[in-house]
Amino acid sequence: MAMHFKIVGGGPAGLYFAYLMKRSHPDYVIRVVEQNAANATYGFGVVLSERALTFLAEGDPAAIARLSRRMETWNVQHIVHRGVRVVVDGSSYFAIERLALLEELQTRCREAGVEVEFGRRIESRASGQDCDVLVAADGANSAIRDCHPAAFDTRIVELENHFAWYGVDKPYDAHTLTFVQRNRCTFCAHHYRYTPLMSTFVAEVDAPTWQGSGMSSMTDDGRKQLFEDIYRDTLGGNKLISNRSIWCRWRLVTNGKWHYRNRVLIGDAQRSAHPSIGSGTRLAMEDSIALWRAFEAEGTDIGAAFERYERERRPIRDKLSTAAERSIAWYENVGSKVALSPYEFAYDYLLRTGLMTRERLERDSPRFMERYRENVNSVKTP
Ligand SMILES: Cc1cc2nc3c(=O)[nH]c(=O)nc-3n(C[C@H](O)[C@H](O)[C@H](O)COP(=O)(O)OP(=O)(O)OC[C@H]3O[C@@H](n4cnc5c(N)ncnc54)[C@H](O)[C@@H]3O)c2cc1C
Repeated sequence: MAMHFKIVGGGPAGLYFAYLMKRSHPDYVIRVVEQNAANATYGFGVVLSERALTFLAEGDPAAIARLSRRMETWNVQHIVHRGVRVVVDGSSYFAIERLALLEELQTRCREAGVEVEFGRRIESRASGQDCDVLVAADGANSAIRDCHPAAFDTRIVELENHFAWYGVDKPYDAHTLTFVQRNRCTFCAHHYRYTPLMSTFVAEVDAPTWQGSGMSSMTDDGRKQLFEDIYRDTLGGNKLISNRSIWCRWRLVTNGKWHYRNRVLIGDAQRSAHPSIGSGTRLAMEDSIALWRAFEAEGTDIGAAFERYERERRPIRDKLSTAAERSIAWYENVGSKVALSPYEFAYDYLLRTGLMTRERLERDSPRFMERYRENVNSVKTP
């Protein structure tokens, strides 16, 4: 039986699922409905780890290989504290312009025969009636999910820190975190290049800084100028570039149930990943792989496919959510860490999620650990 899938949202999750499904079942009707134009998006570049790319290649190795060719890569991370740059070796990272990622996925969808409709927003409770399966891939503020908050058991928590996502005309050498203290306030920037000329620059402050620096009563323009002033050296005098760069607090979304009737949640609609663990795009696309696999295993039995998807995917999502919660707590309490020396600070940061251990650092980042031991006399080797 040929099935009809309607996918709301043409972000990484929706497009990758549509492509995988159509590639396996050319006879199925697979439609994506996206509210924006094909070439519109928010933000700049996203970063993915090597592990993330390996996971994603499970869906379609050739598509991911093509994407890799458009990526910037580096194999160190820099953590700057008190003006000292600590180099952490041992991890490979890949970054890509969000729009380039979407364009690649749109091309794959078109070639496979997916119908993609741009410029149409869907938010009605009745939107699941004209298809067999309605996939809510409409992001963290999902309208499809929010039509049925009780059925999905949706919980939304607004976190304390404020952030905004900018770009800058400056290619940084590596994935860098730069912390700056001024007047008892702590400012944080995550910046990394995603094209040979451009970098993403995510600006973040904790709650005491938001109040203490006066940012709470500034306009977004004023906040941007403040960051340009504080990060003058890091930015090399460049201005920050806005693309709907609104200062806001992160909304952490979770759902007790991932499917309801013929509707299923994937990507940020299902669970919003915090940028400080840097893997929202990967997790969204892995959801797509998991849902596609569930349909491959269960055929046209929609209920069984939904159950399998949630059963197999939830433990992985839960593990990363625990890591994200610890990372969030670290950033919300960054003010209590600033007394640490640069190497102690970097070490504390690297171990913040519980996923990284001292043993793994010794194995994977030997040069960093060597410098760490040299710099931190009080640390006892096990
Ligand atoms: C500041 C910041 C930094 C980030 N950094 C990284 C990073 O470094 N690495 C990383 O992997 N991830 C990062 N992310 C997260 C990443 O962007 C998301 O996790 C990822 O885009 C989720 O993909 P998605 O397809 O589920 O949702 P989205 O990318 O949000 O896509 C949802 C799509 O649905 C469309 N849509 C929404 N509502 C409707 C509707 N009612 N009808 C039709 N269409 C609709 C939207 O226009 C959008 O195109 C970051 C996010 C932020 C905010």
